[in-house]
Formats: sequence, structure tokens, C-alpha cells
Amino acid sequence: MKITYAEARNNKIGKHLREMYFNIDEESANVDSLTEKARQGFDNDTLVLVNSSCLPIEDSDATRKLSFWKKSARKIFAIEHEDNVQESNRELLSLIDSKLDNLNRSMETNRSLLAVVDKLKEAFKCVICREFVRGPAVAFSKCCKQQMGDVTCMDQLLSTCPLCRNSDFGFYTVTSFENLLTAMRNHGD
Ligand SMILES: [Zn+2]
Ligand SMILES: [Zn+2]
Repeated sequence: MKITYAEARNNKIGKHLREMYFNIDEESANVDSLTEKARQGFDNDTLVLVNSSCLPIEDSDATRKLSFWKKSARKIFAIEHEDNVQESNRELLSLIDSKLDNLNRSMETNRSLLAVVDKLKEAFKCVICREFVRGPAVAFSKCCKQQMGDVTCMDQLLSTCPLCRNSDFGFYTVTSFENLLTAMRNHGD
């Protein structure tokens, strides 16, 4: 028996897409089996069987007879059922939803990483010029052991620490943050 895979619009059979012939016997002469064959044959899980008036072929005593399907004047069409299409659209939408969820989560992760970078940048601001340290070296005070910032800015200071007001100001020059500072310069604002 022949099944024609067709488009359907407004409850009318539209463009014929493909035809396939299926073996049929007493066992498979019913709507369920033939729908399954059509779905496999045309590789589309949303197909339903309809007649030439685009009306669904229902399971009944009549359609469980070989003679019903073998009648050559009877055209059998396989179309995408609107409900089935809506069902697959729903599945697609929920897939998109879950992808968006993942995307939101990774954006959330990016946002919290950027917040960490912002905090680090704040911590590496020069206490004198208020700019992100120009590096590669960073100055740390000997008195209060704080991050001070630019070595050049520290060189211009007189003897009082701008943070703890200790009158014997001195600083260490630390170069081990170079890679970290470069990485921070490449991220955020
Ligand atoms: Zn500075
Ligand atoms: Zn100090």
C-alpha cells in the first residue's frame, strides 16, 4: 500500500513531498501500526494518517481490515499533526529555555569573576594618584604593611606615611605581582 507524505494547511492536503510503499498484512492493518511505519519510513515522529479530505483515519473495526487499506481508490496521506507539531515546538522551546538557563548561569559566573577583578583592581590602586598601579613593581609600606601603589609616587613622598601617619615612612618594592597585574589590566574597565 502507498502512503503519501504531504504538507497540510488549513485542514487541506497541500504539496506532496514523498511517496512510499509499505508491506501490509492482517497483523499490521490498523492505524497504530501503519502510523508507526509511516513515521519510521518518512523519519518524522509527528506524522498522523489522514484521508484525502485531510480527516484523521481513526482506529475502528473498518480500519482494522486489510481491505480498507488495500482499496486502491483510497488515498492515504501522512501529515504533521498540528498538535504534534505544537508538542515538538514545546520540546524545542524547553530545550531553548534550558540553554538560556545555562547561558545565564555562565554569565552569572562571568559577572562574579569580573566582580573579583574589580576588587583586586581596587586593592591595587595607588594611594597617592588613585590610579591602578602602573607596575611591574608595587610598593608596600614598612610601617603599616599596606599596599601603597606606584613606586614613582612613593619616591616623591616625604617622610610621613600617608596611611598610618608614621613619621618614619619607608617601602618595599615587590615585583612578584607582575603577571597578575597584566592579567587585571586586560579585564574589566
Ligand atoms: Zn600613583
Ligand atoms: Zn604606614
